[in-house]
Amino acid sequence: MQKTAQSPGQLRAAGINQIVICNFCDEKRRFGYAAEVVAAEQIIREFAEQHGWQEAMKEPLFDHVEIYETQELLWKAILRMHQLPITTEMPTTGLAAALEKRKLMAVRPQTYQSIRPEYASHSQAWTRLLAHEIGHRLHVAILKGNEEAMGPTWFFEAFACLAAGQRLGEPLEFNSLAEVKAGVEDKGPGAYRRYLAALHFMLRKYSLRQLVQKAGVAREAVKLLAEDNSEVLE
Ligand SMILES: [Zn+2]
Repeated sequence: MQKTAQSPGQLRAAGINQIVICNFCDEKRRFGYAAEVVAAEQIIREFAEQHGWQEAMKEPLFDHVEIYETQELLWKAILRMHQLPITTEMPTTGLAAALEKRKLMAVRPQTYQSIRPEYASHSQAWTRLLAHEIGHRLHVAILKGNEEAMGPTWFFEAFACLAAGQRLGEPLEFNSLAEVKAGVEDKGPGAYRRYLAALHFMLRKYSLRQLVQKAGVAREAVKLLAEDNSEVLE
């Protein structure tokens, strides 16, 4: 995990104007957090360059960062941002980060560890959690802002996991379209690990650029998971 302090200049170079450490005495970790935010942005930048999407990274994908002590505080901040009733229930027990309205928000590393011990025990897990959220914004930028074209949930979540280089427990491999289909339909614990395995299966046949294009077209996205679609598998 990178711990070097970042100068304000380096943060600005990464397009970040402000880092707010919210609601707890974690101010001393500001530079450490800043370094990890910059490292997360770099992970996505390199991924974009690798796939010829550097255009989508020309403009900064976020400019504010907020770090929260607890999941509840993060959720309340998201609700406030969208002017939703403060009593609205959290949609997932795994909520750990978000990037909305150009603001990257996350729980602090220790909290992430307690929410998702199976993911957070890997080195750089928190940096890659941030990268995951930035990865979603890259995806949207590739689609020129059209969130509707991100495809099914399994696809855009797997895209973000891949972009961030997240390690999601023991490696998992699918070897048939039937396994992929069952894997992405199962939304229970470990879903992202299955989504990523599904994407890796699809990458045996298509490039990621092709998949991003196909996932955005409803008919094509369904075809990708059609069991008897020899055209897809040939
Ligand atoms: Zn996600």
